Amino acid sequence: MSDGEASCEVADPQESVPSKETPAISYPVKVLYCPECSLPLEYCEFMPDAVQQRCRAWREKNQDLLSQEGVDIAALNLDDSDSANKKRQKRGGRGNVKAKQKKEPDVVKLARIPRGKRKFVTRVTGLATFDINLKKASKLFAQKFSCGSSVSGDDEIIIQGDVTDDLIDLILETWNEIDEDHIEDLGEVKR
Ligand SMILES: [Zn+2]
Repeated sequence: MSDGEASCEVADPQESVPSKETPAISYPVKVLYCPECSLPLEYCEFMPDAVQQRCRAWREKNQDLLSQEGVDIAALNLDDSDSANKKRQKRGGRGNVKAKQKKEPDVVKLARIPRGKRKFVTRVTGLATFDINLKKASKLFAQKFSCGSSVSGDDEIIIQGDVTDDLIDLILETWNEIDEDHIEDLGEVKR
């Protein structure tokens, strides 16, 4: 049990304060260190909120000393905890979520689906993951193959007829961002 405790021990920020730098009144002073978090004063804003609170308290108590040293407290971004919190949220929160939701290009898949005894339709999925406008793509397929073609789902186009081989060529010709490795021919599938 005591082993576990030892390995989980978290350093107390106060313990890590080097005493020789506390409280930064030796002359000549070049960088003022915060005795609470042991960092130069301008880095206090990057400390966890609990530590920042102590940093702020220390500054308030030592305002005279700081202004004597020519430190502009207002410029240190610490005197207003609300704005500091807002900044923190912007940095960590929404941006990351958005990035995760961004779609990565996947694979364009073609499949031949039996329709009746000798007829097939060709299904294309995955074009939308390359940011391709499905309506325009469907129109293009209809023109090139002189057959019906329609957008039939979020990311699915159905072309009337078995055009798989020609379709691969057409896709490679039309969209540079798609190369052969991005196309998978599933062969004949049952819907
Ligand atoms: Zn500090």
